[in-house]
Amino acid sequence: MSKEKNFLTTAFGAHVSDDQNSMTAGTRGPVLMQDAHLLEKLAHFDRERIPERVVHAKGAGAHGYFEVTADVTKYTKARFLSEVGKKTEVFARFSTVGGEKGSADAERDPRGFAVKFYTEEGNYDLVGNNTPVFFIRDPLKFSDFIHTQKRHPATNCKDPNMFWDFLSLTPESIHQVTILFSDRGTPATYRNMNGYSSHTYKWYNHKGEYFWVQYHFKTDQKIKNLTRQEAEHLKGSDPDHATRDLYEAIERGDYPSWTLEMQILTPEQAKDFRWDIFDITKVWPHSEAPPIKIGKLVLNCNPLNYFAEVEQAAFCPGNLVPGIAISPDKMLQARVFSYHDTHIHRLGPNYHLIPVNAPRFAPEKSYQRDGFMRVDGNGAAGPNYWPNSFGGPEPDPSAAEPDFEVEGFAGRHAFNHPNDDFVQAGNLYRNVMKEQDKQNLIGNIVAHLGGAQKRIQSRQAAVFFKADPDYGRRVVNGLGLDIKEVERLANMSQAERAEATKA
Ligand code: NDP
Repeated sequence: MSKEKNFLTTAFGAHVSDDQNSMTAGTRGPVLMQDAHLLEKLAHFDRERIPERVVHAKGAGAHGYFEVTADVTKYTKARFLSEVGKKTEVFARFSTVGGEKGSADAERDPRGFAVKFYTEEGNYDLVGNNTPVFFIRDPLKFSDFIHTQKRHPATNCKDPNMFWDFLSLTPESIHQVTILFSDRGTPATYRNMNGYSSHTYKWYNHKGEYFWVQYHFKTDQKIKNLTRQEAEHLKGSDPDHATRDLYEAIERGDYPSWTLEMQILTPEQAKDFRWDIFDITKVWPHSEAPPIKIGKLVLNCNPLNYFAEVEQAAFCPGNLVPGIAISPDKMLQARVFSYHDTHIHRLGPNYHLIPVNAPRFAPEKSYQRDGFMRVDGNGAAGPNYWPNSFGGPEPDPSAAEPDFEVEGFAGRHAFNHPNDDFVQAGNLYRNVMKEQDKQNLIGNIVAHLGGAQKRIQSRQAAVFFKADPDYGRRVVNGLGLDIKEVERLANMSQAERAEATKA
């Protein structure tokens, strides 16, 4: 039986006669302009790269499903969470944050943990990290912060002075810095880390009652981290180790999974809560908001093509479904704008039509039209405005989030828990870390902070000291700093400390 031949074609479907020899005048050239196949190939190659993500550029992803394991209908009316046993298709992407697309997977960095749920009510994106907190809590600081984690404007090298100058002048970062410089800052693989929403979200039920929630995806593969020395080695010897690990685990049927635990507070509980629940530099202590298990995330299918499915995947915390809403967390509010905006820059205004991003079970019916790469029917002859009387899609009032109260005066307000910033970092150091964790933490800090100027080292050491005196002293000893000077700086206000340690 003859198999049909698999002919090579141009981008427009015509058979290509020869893909080895350009069309030339004579055997030695020159090349003829009329070789449209050559021109098409070169021109397409010239445009193969799209802008890489400004953060989270290096990543790996996989498909799978989310299964509900507990009844949460009293908290949310989200349909994908409406029944025990219900499964929803997902796509997840893990990433490092600061490095470029070719950077090493073993970098010390938070890891992105983004999950897209293809629900029957539209796509729901949860865009978290492997840490429950973040460095800053006001979006006005975000671009400055990221600049310090990337390359110096003159040398184009990573720069410990920028890195620590900003962090030591932004002490709200101490909690995240402590997690980042513990061995959790270098997870062994993407499979061996937890994922956290970090932000507080709102869930609301059919009765319009609402709850404040935080998501914790706990790895079923157990937490496993690299030491600094192991990470340094892997960065050179195998920069893609976590990308390959995820792919190979799924290929061999060893599907990674995470148990979703929720922390849930009623509005009444939230009012009297010890911590500002909209401050992303804080966690909710488990004893005060015990996590409840509600589901399982399983990744069981590799992408067929990295560019199509992972590079073009685009997540946005604003992609919500009825029953889930954002909270007043200022960082979250800004991310709702910034993620969508950056995807439009990176992928174009119709990025929602790219298959990995397109809603699978709730087709888009909007009045948005045209733009680059409008590759569907573009609404055909249907009306492109609302209201219309031609039977176009209409708003559904039942999808509305219940009204919520806001209060106060408009202005540039700081968070009003200024003295809290060091407590949770100190608790982590004192109560959670074992002696070996502490030693690794201090070693990791000393190896990195040691590259910064002495005045910046002392300023940052004072911040560690404020979290816990033992923590500060060990950093001081590791760096050979003057403990009296660091204690003096620790006793100053933030503004005085900044003034006293200027260049
Ligand atoms: P708990 O003792 O109930 O929880 C401690 C948590 O710390 C556990 O979830 C554990 O995660 C996690 N943990 C262990 N080692 C590290 C590390 N090196 N870096 C970061 N997290 C680690 O205490 P609390 O809830 O009162 O929290 C105490 C401190 O634990 C917090 O200040 C915070 O720094 C940290 N933490 C708290 C979380 C929360 O949501 N409450 C979440 C994660 C960290 P695991 O279960 O994987 O071992």
